[in-house]
Amino acid sequence: DEADDDVLYVLMEVRSETDYVRHHAQKVIGLFAAMRQFGETLAKAGHRVEHIRISDARNRHSFSDNLPWLIKEFKFTRLEYMEADEWRVEQALNEAFAASGLPNVVVSAEHFLLERVDAVERFAKKVPRMEFFYRDLRRRFRIMVDADDKPLGGKWNYDVLNREKWLGDPPAPVWPWNKRDLHELWSEIQAAGVETMGEPSDRAFGWPLNQTEAKAWLDDFIAHRLRFFGRFQDALSEHSTTLFHAGLSFALNTKMLHPCEVIDAVVSALERGDCDLPAAEGFVRQILGWREYVRGIYWARMPAYGRLNILGAKRTLPAWYWNADTRMACLHSAIRQSLELGYAHHIQRLMVTGNFALIAGCDPDEVDRWYLGIYIDAFEWVELPNTRGMSQFADGGIVGSKPYAASASYIARQSDHCKTCYYNHR
Ligand code: FAD
Repeated sequence: DEADDDVLYVLMEVRSETDYVRHHAQKVIGLFAAMRQFGETLAKAGHRVEHIRISDARNRHSFSDNLPWLIKEFKFTRLEYMEADEWRVEQALNEAFAASGLPNVVVSAEHFLLERVDAVERFAKKVPRMEFFYRDLRRRFRIMVDADDKPLGGKWNYDVLNREKWLGDPPAPVWPWNKRDLHELWSEIQAAGVETMGEPSDRAFGWPLNQTEAKAWLDDFIAHRLRFFGRFQDALSEHSTTLFHAGLSFALNTKMLHPCEVIDAVVSALERGDCDLPAAEGFVRQILGWREYVRGIYWARMPAYGRLNILGAKRTLPAWYWNADTRMACLHSAIRQSLELGYAHHIQRLMVTGNFALIAGCDPDEVDRWYLGIYIDAFEWVELPNTRGMSQFADGGIVGSKPYAASASYIARQSDHCKTCYYNHR
């Protein structure tokens, strides 16, 4: 958009955001680095930008404490904020803005297919099953449907083809890690006293930090992994941390990539013959289906949803969730890689760490805090329904129709972990 001298963009790196849960070091580094690049891009395009850094002496470290001095210093006459993704943040912004006494307005985040009001309306009374919600969105946005609104290929769902174990063939491609030196930013974060977990990887930081890099990650996924995504979607392996997954959740959740951009790229690959229909459908289902679905549930059911504990689970999460110090091979592997990368793929989150916490009866508040902290893509709107709902069944079946509770036979069937495990899976 054209620069306007009457408009000031404000970005804040505040302790209220770094401290509400203990985050993975790469998550804090990645978010601040991406914010800084975004601020610089706006400034280069001629916009006025005020970026309050974590080390800024003026920083009062929350929205409500920074806003009064900003209003005074810059003589604001009107405030606007982009719809927050988390309930907690929206509350904080609402309070801060209301206290300002200035006219204010909330604008759409424009980063989902459904507007939030539309999503909330769909989930307000009854939660539809994901499958029907997804079909409806396929028809509404005309994605892989024919002129009569029938699914391409005649079926809506190719999940039965997506259950293969991975034995090393085809080889799993390495993700296009960027490896840049961010140790100065990491020192600044540490000097501010922010407490984190996991490896900072500050001298070889890998995740994408702007739209160009995020687009390169998307292109890399389409070229090298999409065609195998569906087949090995449910696989687990000692020999690959990332298999054929996209690694796009951080870029999507921080709005460096738009979900439509990702869906369009997949549909184009299908049209070019670069992947088959089950692969394309399996992937589109994650973005158009699951991602939009959990967001709808979150906004329709918060804040009560965040307190649900239908199974009355009370046990403390074992200490080795924080250091991977367990002889169970699958859990060691999933937790160690989470600490190293700030990432584990869906089946590791659901059927390894989540499954264990569920069958051990761990307190969903603790489980939620762990998931919300450890993953680079973790923001409450998506983390909470996946953890408390899909994985821990603490919502009594709002997100999923059954608890994902499995014995080690499942792990032995889907992975190679049990072969090297200290324990006998039987
Ligand atoms: P891929 O497997 O390649 O999938 C592609 C994309 O589909 C993802 O990037 C994501 O945007 C979307 N997607 C896939 N599954 C889901 C889902 N169940 N819900 C919403 N979107 C989905 N996802 C997050 O983005 N943030 C979280 O904090 C988060 N917490 C989770 C906690 C638990 C206990 C579980 C079981 C799942 C969680 N997920 C979360 C969903 C999913 O595991 C991640 O989106 C996925 O692992 C991200 O990696 P990827 O980009 O390689 O995904």
